[in-house]
Amino acid sequence: MTIIAIANQKGGVGKTTSAINIATALAATGKKTLLIDLDPQGNASTGLGVGQSLRVRSSYNVLLGNASVDEAAMRSPVPGLDLVPATQDLSGAEIELVEMAERTHRLDRALRRSRGGYDIVLIDCPPSLGLLTINAMVAADSLFVPLQCEFFALEGLSQLLTTVERIRTRFNPGLSIVGVALTMFDRRNRLTEQVSADVRAVLGRVVFETVIPRNVRLSEAPSHGLPALIYDHRCAGSQAYIALARELIARLPASADILAQAAE
Ligand code: ATP
Ligand code: MG
Repeated sequence: MTIIAIANQKGGVGKTTSAINIATALAATGKKTLLIDLDPQGNASTGLGVGQSLRVRSSYNVLLGNASVDEAAMRSPVPGLDLVPATQDLSGAEIELVEMAERTHRLDRALRRSRGGYDIVLIDCPPSLGLLTINAMVAADSLFVPLQCEFFALEGLSQLLTTVERIRTRFNPGLSIVGVALTMFDRRNRLTEQVSADVRAVLGRVVFETVIPRNVRLSEAPSHGLPALIYDHRCAGSQAYIALARELIARLPASADILAQAAE
C-alpha cells in the first residue's frame, strides 16, 4: 500500500481537483484506490457526488478512533475508487486531538489496521499545516504538492518544506516528495510561463513535466458530482491529469516491480 498526501497550505491551488482526478486515473489502471477527504470543507466528497446526508462515517470518526478506515470507506461513482468522506465536525478535530494520546499518529495507526487491500491511498489535505495535515504527513510515504502558476507560487513552499523536514526528523524519516505539479497553467499569460520557468529552475526534476492547464471543465465537474475524467474525459484538463497520473505511477517505488512483472 502506497500512501500519498496531497498537500499545500496555500488555499485554492488545485489539491482537491488533483486528488479526485488522479485517484480516478489510478483506479482506471486497475489499482484499488482509496481517497481520504481530510478537509473539513469536504470538497473531495462533494466532488465525488457524496453529499452531506450520505456521509455516515467520516475521516473525523477515523481520527477520533470510533470508526476504522474500512468502516468509513464507501464506494464512489468511480469503479475501483473508495472514499472516506469528510464532515464539518472535522474542523473541531484539530482541537480535540490536542488532548489525545499519539495525536500525530491517529491516521497512520488507522491506515495500518486497514484490511481493505488498497494499492494506493490518496489523502486530500486542508489548506493549513495543522494537526490534520501533520497526521497525513506522518501516515504518508510521499507528498504530492500542487503549485499554482502565479507570482507568489514559491512563497509558502519553504514553510511546507520546513514542516516536511520536521516530520522526517521526528516521526517519519521515509517521507519523500514524489513531485510538484504546476496547476492552472495559462499559456496566454506570460507571467505563467515565467513562474513555471522559475519554479523549474529552483526545484529541478522534482517538478512533474506535465502541467495542468487552466480549464473550465475541471472546475465544472464537481458540481455534477463527478471527476472531470468522467464528466469530460477528452477535455484538455482531463488529458493532462491522465498524463500526470502516468508520471506519478512511474515515480512510485512499487512501479519498478510492476515494470519487472510486465517484462517477464
Ligand atoms: P482548498 O485549499 O480550498 O482545499 P484546493 O487547493 O483543494 O483548495 P481546488 O479546490 O482543487 O483547490 O481548486 C480551487 C478552485 O479552482 C476550484 O473551484 C476548482 O474547481 C478550480 N480549479 C482547480 N484546478 C483548475 C484548473 N486547472 N482549471 C480551472 N479551474 C481549476
Ligand atoms: Mg481542497
